[in-house]
Amino acid sequence: MIRQKIVAGNWKMNGSKESIVSLINGLLEMEDSNSEVVVAPSFPYLSQVNDLISDSSIVLAAQNVSQEVKGAYTGEVSTSMLGDFGVKYVLLGHSERRSLYGETNELVASKVKAVLDSGLTPMLCIGETLAERESGKTLGVCEQQLQAVIDVVGIVSFEQMVIAYEPVWAIGTGLSASAEQAQEVHSSIRAFLAKSSESVSQKVQILYGGSVKASTSSALFQMPDVDGALVGGASLDAKEFIAIVKTAG
Ligand code: PEP
Repeated sequence: MIRQKIVAGNWKMNGSKESIVSLINGLLEMEDSNSEVVVAPSFPYLSQVNDLISDSSIVLAAQNVSQEVKGAYTGEVSTSMLGDFGVKYVLLGHSERRSLYGETNELVASKVKAVLDSGLTPMLCIGETLAERESGKTLGVCEQQLQAVIDVVGIVSFEQMVIAYEPVWAIGTGLSASAEQAQEVHSSIRAFLAKSSESVSQKVQILYGGSVKASTSSALFQMPDVDGALVGGASLDAKEFIAIVKTAG
């Protein structure tokens, strides 16, 4: 099964009105790619970025969303608000949201449901901590995180989703998983999903995230079950991000 690669940049809480113009201008110099290129700015810049990329094939993502549809939820942002600004993907369950903001598997699952209900596409982040990897729990943790979502939205909904495997120990640390380590987990994730639906398991795109750079992405993208990357730090540098996209083909 041929799955289109996705290279997504998670800008996290970085950028300003000015720096975003130059970052996007840099990205607009990118040659056409067979991969889908995605950027995820902070909420206040979604409108600006949406305008700046309107004549390009770059796709917009948000970094989070409320599980609620609307109402008295001060400080929250709804899926329909994201839709108003051209957002296609919503990152959910990022390890920073899980560890710093207490997002549980159940809360992440309810956000996935809200995003699917609104017609947007969840980019569901899963992955183990270093302690979990060292105690042999990598797959167990990933399966629990996936099962919590399957329990709420069902396996078939995974056809409308993207998974990002992001080992927590590799995020922002400069310690990327090797291509072989990533492949091992990605193929196990696919095998886990196949227990519920073989066809869904073959269709769903599984991205790798964790200190991806142009120097490591080429080997990662050659792995049969790695369908792209979720890139944090390196996505803030247009040249580096374009170089990563190039390695995806
Ligand atoms: C991320 O934030 O999803 C991420 C993978 O960050 P970094 O590439 O900086 O490790």
